[in-house]
Amino acid sequence: MKRVLITGGAGFLGSHLCEHFLKKGCAVIAVDNLLTGSPANVERLSRNPRFTFIRQDVTLGVHVPGPLDAVLHFASPASPEDYRRWPIPTLKVGALGTHKVLGLAKDKKAVFMLASTSEVYGDPQVSPQPESYWGHVNPIGPRGVYDEAKRFAEALTMAYHRSHRMPVRIARIFNTYGPRMRRDDGRAVPNFITQALSGRPLTVYGDGSQTRSLTYVDDLMDGIGRLLASSLNTPVNLGNPRELTMREIAETVRRLARSRSRIAFKPLPEDDPKVRRPDISLARKRLRWEPGVALEDGLKRTIAWFRRARGGVAVS
Ligand code: UDP
Repeated sequence: MKRVLITGGAGFLGSHLCEHFLKKGCAVIAVDNLLTGSPANVERLSRNPRFTFIRQDVTLGVHVPGPLDAVLHFASPASPEDYRRWPIPTLKVGALGTHKVLGLAKDKKAVFMLASTSEVYGDPQVSPQPESYWGHVNPIGPRGVYDEAKRFAEALTMAYHRSHRMPVRIARIFNTYGPRMRRDDGRAVPNFITQALSGRPLTVYGDGSQTRSLTYVDDLMDGIGRLLASSLNTPVNLGNPRELTMREIAETVRRLARSRSRIAFKPLPEDDPKVRRPDISLARKRLRWEPGVALEDGLKRTIAWFRRARGGVAVS
């Protein structure tokens, strides 16, 4: 049986990862300081004897007894509104937290995986974005705290790989959506769904012509599992190459939720990337991975979950 430690285990992606590895028969240790994560996300898993939850800020260090086979560092505020609200914790978990967690993985001779992000490409001047693109980031803008923390985390991960010959994986994760996203995390998908379900206007920022490519969380879990099992020590894009404008995404959510909400245009936040679309040639070739869930299907499942969660019925 493998033992896996997941930082940010009570967050959106972290809790799906805990579930993914428990289903595979692993023992899972989730570490989270609950700054943006929620105990409700892992409540159901707590009944599993192979699951352990530790409330801990990883920037202060993580110590666990016994062996570990893999350490996945997913702790970080991840929505633009969250990292605008928590700029220093975002920088600290990406920098100090990554350092501590790399140290833990080294000590345990475990494979280390970093949850990196398409934000390392900033407001890209190349589209789609291949892993070889160095990005276009404003280091001192409101998004810089997240972008630069993740860029530093990538640099540190590669330094550990080169200096200590540690096996590392770097997942550059593009916009992902699904059940257990926080209703109030400020991102487009949860905003649009909660607005559509309550009949309030869907807030599209700018003129809605900026693009994103949305991956359903189950597809991402499959990609992460494959990346971990691979021998790729360099960054790999994990995302859906289907690119849509935010206006199209808002209209799709409204239609699927059978909502009569109108669309209200609001100011575009500073440094908001105009385009984002992954080049996933590397993942296709080396991981034999590509997303399989159509946007409409994934959104339907997510809307159904938000409906249930709104009624206070479901948390998982
Ligand atoms: N956005 C929007 N309405 C919202 C929330 C976000 O139009 O209520 C836009 C945002 O300006 C960005 C895109 O949707 O262009 C995706 O934003 P999100 O916060 O989901 O994540 P990002 O991809 O910017 O990190």
